[in-house]
Amino acid sequence: MKKYPVVVIGSGPAGMMAALQAGGKGVKTLLLEKNSCIGNKLLITGGGRCNLTNNRGLPDFIASYHNGDFLRNAFARFCNQDLITFFEEKGFKLVVEDERLIFPASQSAQDVVNFLLAQMKENKVELWLKNPVLDIQKNSSRFFEIDTVAGPITAEKIILATGGKSYPQTGSTGDGYVLAEKFGHKVFKPKPALCGIMLQGDWHKKWQGISFEKAGLKLMLEKKQLGSESGEIIFTHFGISGPAALNLSRILTEVEDKRSTHLFVNFMPELNENALRDRLMDEFLKHGRMTARKILSTLIPARIAEQIVVFAGIPEEKTVSNITGRERQALVVRLNSFSLSVDGLLPIEDAMVTRGGVSVKEINPQTMESRIVPGLYFAGEIVDVDGKTGGFNLQAAFSTGFAAGIHV
Ligand SMILES: Cc1cc2nc3c(=O)[nH]c(=O)nc-3n(C[C@H](O)[C@H](O)[C@H](O)COP(=O)(O)OP(=O)(O)OC[C@H]3O[C@@H](n4cnc5c(N)ncnc54)[C@H](O)[C@@H]3O)c2cc1C
Repeated sequence: MKKYPVVVIGSGPAGMMAALQAGGKGVKTLLLEKNSCIGNKLLITGGGRCNLTNNRGLPDFIASYHNGDFLRNAFARFCNQDLITFFEEKGFKLVVEDERLIFPASQSAQDVVNFLLAQMKENKVELWLKNPVLDIQKNSSRFFEIDTVAGPITAEKIILATGGKSYPQTGSTGDGYVLAEKFGHKVFKPKPALCGIMLQGDWHKKWQGISFEKAGLKLMLEKKQLGSESGEIIFTHFGISGPAALNLSRILTEVEDKRSTHLFVNFMPELNENALRDRLMDEFLKHGRMTARKILSTLIPARIAEQIVVFAGIPEEKTVSNITGRERQALVVRLNSFSLSVDGLLPIEDAMVTRGGVSVKEINPQTMESRIVPGLYFAGEIVDVDGKTGGFNLQAAFSTGFAAGIHV
């Protein structure tokens, strides 16, 4: 039977970072991947461009995750600046977009995967592709027996980096959860996070394809505000997506009765209610013979303007010089707080990340070692940690992979 001091399972960013760090210490390391190529999910990140991380400071980082505190130790050893150095000191160029998002200068996720592969080769990591791990047992001595299609392997230490359960076609099918549960770990039910929000009714389909670079978005459960975001939104055939909506989906995923929630869109967040009222008044005074729809169409996309006027109950042909104060107020409310009834979330298969996974309480945050099974480590999305859009999830995968890799 083949024997390795360290076996890493899963060749996502967490597994690759863990393997190359372990290999870099001179420890004979085997990386097992079920697919015929490495980093399948990494290849589709950032629309194939791979938003590697974010240049925000530590407090912003911690606040951007579910269970962010768990990551403090891992970030103390290896955070965004370390990741940037890790790439750049070997000549891999990075660029900053929108003043905060870090991408490869080549705009190619494939280049990131190639770079990580080269680092693993340099550190003599052995890579077995097309090798799904079927089962793991710990025998009476301190060794693990790993059941693979290529036969059993013995390992002193194992790093489980099998990812979450979203986009299962990439290989992340939740296998690690089953293995972790078998070893007595608590696994929180995987749920979709960072995914599109479905809306009730059909009328919003008219807005399909419209995007706002900067909109305000509030998620409400009756009178209670559950969360708010500002940023890009995109209307789609199912409802609403784009970074602001994706970030709110992480809150919505925890709500039992999603159909009781509403999203309130502020189409003109740069103006507060009074300023918006004044702005409309100005426009109405200047263009008294125009319809409200025509005037609103100069401020927001025409298809949205049309719907706002309908929902404000203003007859289509009415010129703005005849509009009442109440009608004008109805427009203001719909421009800065347009209510959308939520239907639910897209399924986990369509989510970018998974909420849930192995309980952080049972993992040592410094080493990523299981508090239940010595020699078993976790890294990446398998852990019950998920972040906002903007490179936070890859950074968490790299940081936890780094922590596990240097401690095995
Ligand atoms: C469309 C999309 C876009 C994204 N864009 C970004 C982005 O731009 N920035 C960002 O920060 N995050 C992004 N993410 C999230 C990010 O990709 C994940 O959080 C990250 O890949 C998780 O890394 P991981 O190593 O933990 O797991 P994964 O990348 O999921 O890798 C797990 C690996 O384990 C393998 N595996 C599973 N089971 C077994 C088994 N039994 N035996 C052997 N191998 C196994 C899988 O085949 C897979 O290769 C995106 C996600 C999606 C779906």
